[in-house]
Amino acid sequence: MSEPTFLSALTGSFATSAAQNPTVAIMDAAFLAAGMDCRYVNCEVPAENLAGAVRGAVAMGWIGFNCSIPHKVEVLKHLDELAPSAAIIGAVNTVVIRDGRLIGENTDGQGFVASLRKVADPAGQHVVVLGAGGAARAMAVETALAGALSITIVNRTPERGEALADLIDTNTPAAGRYLPWTPELHVPHGTGVLINATSIGFHPNHGVMPDVDMTTVEPTTVVADVVANPPRTLFLAAAADRGCPTLDGLGMLVNQALIAVRLWTGQDVSGAVMRGVLEDLFKA
Ligand code: NDP
Repeated sequence: MSEPTFLSALTGSFATSAAQNPTVAIMDAAFLAAGMDCRYVNCEVPAENLAGAVRGAVAMGWIGFNCSIPHKVEVLKHLDELAPSAAIIGAVNTVVIRDGRLIGENTDGQGFVASLRKVADPAGQHVVVLGAGGAARAMAVETALAGALSITIVNRTPERGEALADLIDTNTPAAGRYLPWTPELHVPHGTGVLINATSIGFHPNHGVMPDVDMTTVEPTTVVADVVANPPRTLFLAAAADRGCPTLDGLGMLVNQALIAVRLWTGQDVSGAVMRGVLEDLFKA
């Protein structure tokens, strides 16, 4: 019989503020269900302490970590290597530490694409993204790299929208376009995937939805929302009323976590366990 060991594999998250981040709950539940001796530590790390936190993780032999607001761009200067899509996005939410080297990945957009693939192939699609912030950037780049024909960015602030459309056009095989967000936005005919990548509808402001004329959304369009809390946003409810297939933000949240675990440990854990924890937390 082998000797018991008492040294868990360590990973976690660096962010501020960290208290409302539910990732530790889904990670620990999934590790436990898989019988893995792995721990996830949710850490409050202000901007000025990021360098120290990264050095600490390496010194303590962590297998990697997530980083969230405000570290997703700043962490780049501490890395030895960047995954190709993270380099295009220009932001990292997952760092893998292997043989003392730090490798940056961005699993947000990959998580969205994994979730999208369950209902539609991104290849050949015309995609409309509402928003041009960090989440929109990751989702737009990964959907473009997954073979979408065009990505149309609709954003309140034109400069940010145009910059993301240019980034897609220049750095991916998809055509990137900007469409101004006029009141009661008309969704272009032939849109295969429509994504709300803004924070509109996020708890506690769940009584609002993006300003879109839903009668212009075709029933064949897959409609996705980045907002995970609540999972059933007004936007998704309106899309479901049109007969559209819908994807909630929980799918993306779970899939980005599954991909991070795979990158850190090489193992697959249960997405159903993670989703169950989130549904309890968000009372889905
Ligand atoms: P950012 O602050 O980087 O971007 C916010 C975006 O929303 C911008 O495009 C902003 O437009 C737009 N926006 C905000 N309020 C309004 C409004 N009232 N009207 C029109 N546009 C608006 O945030 P993130 O991209 O990091 O996050 C966006 C959302 O995605 C958050 O709710 C976050 O919780 C969620 N998220 C979910 C994930 C998941 O796994 N499900 C993963 C990551 C994020 P403008 O440029 O004009 O300011």
